[in-house]
Amino acid sequence: MLPAAEAEAKILDLVSLPVNAEQVPLDKALGRILAQSIPSPLDFPHWDNSAMDGYAVRHADVQGASAENPVALTLTETIPAGRSPTQPVDPGQAARILTGSMLPTGADTIVIQEVTRREGEQVLVLETPEPKQFVRHQGSFCRAGDPLMGAGLLIGGPELAVLASAQCLQVPVFPQPRVAILSTGDELVRPDTPLQPGQIVDSNQYALAALVRQAGAIPVPLGIVADQPQALRTAIQTALAQADVIVSGGGVSVGDYDYVDEILAELGATLHIRSVAVKPGKPLTVATFPAVQGSAPLYFGLPGNPVSALVTFWRFVVPALRKRSGLATVWGPGFVPAVTRHVLKAGGQRETYLWGRLTPTSAGYEFELASGGHNSGNLINLAGTNALAIVPVGTTRVAEGETVQVMAIS
Ligand code: AMP
Ligand code: MG
Repeated sequence: MLPAAEAEAKILDLVSLPVNAEQVPLDKALGRILAQSIPSPLDFPHWDNSAMDGYAVRHADVQGASAENPVALTLTETIPAGRSPTQPVDPGQAARILTGSMLPTGADTIVIQEVTRREGEQVLVLETPEPKQFVRHQGSFCRAGDPLMGAGLLIGGPELAVLASAQCLQVPVFPQPRVAILSTGDELVRPDTPLQPGQIVDSNQYALAALVRQAGAIPVPLGIVADQPQALRTAIQTALAQADVIVSGGGVSVGDYDYVDEILAELGATLHIRSVAVKPGKPLTVATFPAVQGSAPLYFGLPGNPVSALVTFWRFVVPALRKRSGLATVWGPGFVPAVTRHVLKAGGQRETYLWGRLTPTSAGYEFELASGGHNSGNLINLAGTNALAIVPVGTTRVAEGETVQVMAIS
């Protein structure tokens, strides 16, 4: 049994970063990963402009200005946002300016309106400003030709704003990994089928497709596969033709009908991991198929128990998908220390994950264990949770009020 951290490192080693890029329209780029660095087509800001509502002045004119000795300047014009100034500011003059408006030539400083007084066509400056105060200089945020953003960045709201501002209408992104999902088991039926004794609904198919999508990849749901070697062989071959990552649930333990590892070997896959020291989830198969166009298709054989399938997906498949997606950094899960509000118990042999809720507090975070049985087959109390508390190998009990590492899962 491989320790969890070693399994994660080994899996990440097996995953290659994407090399190809595709173009998507700007309004479809949310959640995608930038495939190339984007050079700025223009200076940001595009021109010197005002950061405040006030008056554009020449600093030399207002040195020594104070409430007792105000400096009177003659107004030239009002410069609204979206228009160019029509005349320079000459010595003894000022222009009324609004936030974001272009600075007129001659002016080098903004005096905020709060320290002025209007008197007809004149403005009285009642305080000496710092030189260049409240001027945003052309190119001070980014110069034309310099990179705006680098490859490997996840595109969210701020990144879309930058792309839109740079008028980048077609965005180069990495292709999303396609993830085939197979559920193995003779007991499984679709949710629209009336249940016969001994049958259960293939709930993993839905949960795993959702997690694949949340990880930024494309789920390819391939349905239920019977516990027969030939059915499994055909399903894996179908999956290989349609996806670059395959996730199957069930059939990886040592039961009489657990054929996954055997069929993988037969189909020419290399088995890298067969079990990991985690609970839930000990049986976990990780294999690769011979590379097609540079990247080797990856196979994750997850345990079938609903909680085990999801926990192993969060812990081991998500990092692999993040790397395969082309994210530049932070593939692994995030762990935060949290104070547990309940006693946490574990066997001590395997890294143990207990599900519950992580809540921010004034001092950091606290963890509340989900009520009900912590059994890998109990999918009911997993609903509504947002985190897994981790009890490390060698620890059998964490007392209430102690700090544990917690992995966020949503
Ligand atoms: P297995 O790993 O195939 O031995 O399955 C372990 C347990 O998980 C069994 O009780 C299965 O019935 C259950 N199980 C397997 N696959 C699924 C699935 N796709 N959805 C829900 N439960 C499953
Ligand atoms: Mg099974």
